[in-house]
Amino acid sequence: MKKYLISVFAILAGFSLVYFIFIKDGGVFGGDEQVAIERDKASLIKYGFTLDSFEVVEDKVKPNQLIADILLKHHIPMKDIDLMLQRGKDVFDVRKFKANQPYTVFCSKDSTKKAQCFIYEINAIDYVVYDMRDSMFVYAASKPVVTLEQKASGIINNSLYETMTDNGLSAALANELAEVYAWSIDFYRIQKGDKFKVIYDEQQVEGESVNIKRIKAAMFEHSGHEYYAVYFEQNGVSGYYDEESRGMKRQFLKAPVKFSHISSRYTMKRFHPVQQRWKAHLGTDYAAPTGTPIMSTANGVIIEATQNRFNGNYVKVKHNSTYTTQYLHMSRIASGMRRGASVRQGDVIGYVGSTGLASGPHVCYRFWKNGKQIDALGEKLPQSEPISSGNKEKFHAVADVLVETLKSIDYNQKPLAAN
Ligand SMILES: [Zn+2]
Repeated sequence: MKKYLISVFAILAGFSLVYFIFIKDGGVFGGDEQVAIERDKASLIKYGFTLDSFEVVEDKVKPNQLIADILLKHHIPMKDIDLMLQRGKDVFDVRKFKANQPYTVFCSKDSTKKAQCFIYEINAIDYVVYDMRDSMFVYAASKPVVTLEQKASGIINNSLYETMTDNGLSAALANELAEVYAWSIDFYRIQKGDKFKVIYDEQQVEGESVNIKRIKAAMFEHSGHEYYAVYFEQNGVSGYYDEESRGMKRQFLKAPVKFSHISSRYTMKRFHPVQQRWKAHLGTDYAAPTGTPIMSTANGVIIEATQNRFNGNYVKVKHNSTYTTQYLHMSRIASGMRRGASVRQGDVIGYVGSTGLASGPHVCYRFWKNGKQIDALGEKLPQSEPISSGNKEKFHAVADVLVETLKSIDYNQKPLAAN
């Protein structure tokens, strides 16, 4: 009988834990009362500490505030703070201590109110503990993360971002979805009535969504055409493929000129050979003889084909809503390459020269991602390899199920709400 009771209790405890994690407000089982009890139990412990045993101070780091400022306020002498930070330097780099991050100080309940433990949240999952009770002890830890497969959908009303956030979906999910379709859909041109469905793994901590681990599959209906995307890994490389196993992303050419060498890389600081001063170089220079053809590194539309004092003759190509490239110092722009013209990857758009601020013939290749200049050589550029014939069967085993699941999602689909 005793044994029976214990196992019933174990099952109930296990069940209530599952209940607590997965079934949200107004669930089918139990009542609000039970949820409240479970919540109280959970709320007695934080970061592994029993809240009852301390006077607990919770706050957020203020601008320019240091760990030392906080601890001095809670009666830790400066020499102990120094010692502790020294011991913790391999656990957490204090230069990464940021304003607005939550922290908790567990203080003694006696009249000294001295800090016993200081906990700083590095992000929504990871935190660092400075334990000052006996000896100074610093360690990193993580909150338990629950990964849930979620489904969501929506009908575009204005932008993808606004529609998704209006539907209670996270900005992170909107960004991920835009990345998946960066090569297929120009999100600045989507229309009212376009639709999306998405299956993704979401990480939750204490019932709050903290991270989109991965979009597993998606469908975007644009101008009546359905674009499917399925995540798949082959030969150690991950990517998205359409339902016919074609790669969704198009590769950039490695360089805009053949037979050249890199004469200056992207850097935040270099000595400018013409201006004779230190400044950032937000591009990659390829030295090549005057007249060498310059190619567009990917398909796109020319948005500028003109000249100015600094760039000389230059062409700027928009590839999609994520990527734009620019080619400077041309001796001349190729004929027909004017604003609005479409170019294919490898099309000659101009010729190497040294117009504008240039010390010798080269093309300065500039690269934008989401409106920000980045290092084209440092960017992990999209792959375009299709699924290999050896992997096709495996791909379809995964993809066919996901595509069927996507088809079954209706447009009222909401992800499981967070607690
Ligand atoms: Zn340059």
